[in-house]
Amino acid sequence: MTFPAPLRTTAALAPVLAALAGCAAQPAKPDDASPRSSSGDKTAVAQVNPLLAPWSGPWGGVPPFGRFTPADLKPALEAAMAENLAEIDRIAAEPAPPTFDDTIAAMERAGHTLDRVTTAYGVYTSTMNDAEVQGIQREMSPKLAELNDRIFQNAKLFARIAAVYAARDRMKLTPEQQRLLWLDYTTFVRAGAKLDAAAKARLAELNQRLAGLYTKFSQNVLAEEDSQMVLLKAEADLAGLPEAVRDGAASAAADRGKQGQWAVVNTRSSVDPFLTYSTRRDLREKVWRMFVMRGDNGDAHDNNQTLAEILKLRAARAKLLGYPTHAHWRLEDSMAKTPERAVALMEAVWKPAVARVHEEVADMQAIADREKAGIRIAPWDYRFYAEKVRKAKYDLDQNDVKPYLMLDKLREGMFWVAGELFGLRFSPVAEGTVPVYHPDVRVWEVTDAQGKHVGLWYFDPYARPGKSSGAWMNEYQRQSRLEGEVPVIVSNNANFVRGKPGEPILISWDDARTLFHEFGHALHGLNSSVTYPSLAGTSVARDYVEFPSQLLEQWLSTRPVLDRFALHYQTGKPIPAELVQKIERSKTFNQGFATVEYLASALVDMKLHLAGDAPIDPRRFEKETLAALGMPSELVMRHRTPQFLHVFAGDGYSAGYYSYLWSDTLSADAWEAFLEQGGPYDKAVAKRLRDNVFSAGNTVDPADGYRAFRGREPGIAALMRKRGFPVPASAAAPDRQDSPGGGR
Ligand SMILES: [Zn+2]
Repeated sequence: MTFPAPLRTTAALAPVLAALAGCAAQPAKPDDASPRSSSGDKTAVAQVNPLLAPWSGPWGGVPPFGRFTPADLKPALEAAMAENLAEIDRIAAEPAPPTFDDTIAAMERAGHTLDRVTTAYGVYTSTMNDAEVQGIQREMSPKLAELNDRIFQNAKLFARIAAVYAARDRMKLTPEQQRLLWLDYTTFVRAGAKLDAAAKARLAELNQRLAGLYTKFSQNVLAEEDSQMVLLKAEADLAGLPEAVRDGAASAAADRGKQGQWAVVNTRSSVDPFLTYSTRRDLREKVWRMFVMRGDNGDAHDNNQTLAEILKLRAARAKLLGYPTHAHWRLEDSMAKTPERAVALMEAVWKPAVARVHEEVADMQAIADREKAGIRIAPWDYRFYAEKVRKAKYDLDQNDVKPYLMLDKLREGMFWVAGELFGLRFSPVAEGTVPVYHPDVRVWEVTDAQGKHVGLWYFDPYARPGKSSGAWMNEYQRQSRLEGEVPVIVSNNANFVRGKPGEPILISWDDARTLFHEFGHALHGLNSSVTYPSLAGTSVARDYVEFPSQLLEQWLSTRPVLDRFALHYQTGKPIPAELVQKIERSKTFNQGFATVEYLASALVDMKLHLAGDAPIDPRRFEKETLAALGMPSELVMRHRTPQFLHVFAGDGYSAGYYSYLWSDTLSADAWEAFLEQGGPYDKAVAKRLRDNVFSAGNTVDPADGYRAFRGREPGIAALMRKRGFPVPASAAAPDRQDSPGGGR
């Protein structure tokens, strides 16, 4: 699971951004990109905001990191928004009768400047978010929402779109053009284009207030993640911690001016290892409480009121737009289509997952009893005792695996997989060729099997203050062919804890999986082959976008990757076959925990957004919903409500956290397509995967794309097998025509 902040923007707001910005970033023609640059006058050029200029540099231009300061963001956004509005007004005021080209394609050709500026803005708000950037974000996020509404509510523009849509059968459109037209039309309608003037004004007001609240919500979480920590002052506080975890805690303390001490900071990458290894139950409880209480401390950063307000405004907006609830509105353009289908899938998995948790807890309690620990398993014990069970049951110690998981080697491993599956090659770009926003960031050039340039891949691997927690992918420039070939620029971001200087970074098996996951998103962007930029890469339905990334995780544990890239950091020897077998055998270990902590969050998210306009007390709602579900007391939601960034830092994954399970149904089923044929590296299956999924973007309906790849509908049997849960009899027949969640 990941925290896909900027992917959230790319994936979920793609139609919005498409309409707002016309399309993905693309080097604009110099004459229309910068209103002041045509004179050649040196003073005028010096006054040009570097963010407004077309991207320069190699490969058709790269983001101008290092050439602007955060202070340039606001004026650049304002100028780019004004330019975009003027472009949209020109399209709307076109005197000729509307055609596909002068309306739909014209919107795709507009907004390039704004796209470039929002790319820089997105990088700074997600990875360099200091007090200055936060101030800019607070001011600008409602203005960006306002711009959105001004475009969606432009009656002349919508009349043209609607006219083209009404005439669609008489025009000779390609399937991609038909899809784009349908998406534009439905996106405008869903965003209120058909409302009367009073309702439009009310909607715009709701959207701007929501944008402000989303920023407030995320800045509150970031504040607690950045500032809170549990300081360990004595050797005895470190009991049980492996050396790498100690080293990470030491450098985290040093970064915060606490030399000679150790800090468990309030982020998952710091907290989880501590909870896994510390033998100090008192400190585990302290660290656990700090982490699960983010945004819920009754202080200046408490998010309860903010999120209650968000829910109220979302419910009002859904009503205004003619939907029973926010969930119904959000799900309409997803693959699941209705909240009922999403809930049915979650409920089908919930019971077996809870049953597995009870088994896992019984195993852990047995060990605690044998050790005469005199405790009942509590949430801060789960990870710790799970490790003991792993050792007892599978003779597998995570610490035996970690020395083979060097970040740099695994990165080479994923490059190799991309070569085997898709023919892509990655070569490092010489330092200084492409500017970066932080010295940690490195850049690779991506080429295809014929050596043709495909794009660039930026990698920002390490945690630092001001960077969102978790891992995500970000698309700086989407592929397109509308105005000549535009190459892809994507980035992967993570929060690995840096160890001692000069030593290789060793990561956990889970982190290695996350690395492959995010790389899957990057490959979804890099393989894109479409004409229209707003249909490119990861601009697909929210509950489909995690499918390529979850699928790619599977290649980590394939033999060639482990044999060639999981090398011991001291001896260089490949991971022993015996250890690989143990990993293989323990594949479904702890799936009760992983599934229930995720599903509890997904179900609470959905139920919050199905509640309509009833006023919500978040603490009570969470408690009562979990009690009604029969939530086991030994664990908590992966994201408790007051810190649930997926859901409250934007609309993106609201009523949409179920998407990971929906997508995993597809990814489990798709993996079996490889296993049924020649295995993970079967060239024919890989080609079908690229042709119908990785390169297709949003040019086809995802259900059709999947069927074309698989030759049939997906079912949930593969998902249940992947997680080690019993396969329900109704799902066992391989030819059963069920879609995920269908009917259960
Ligand atoms: Zn993801």
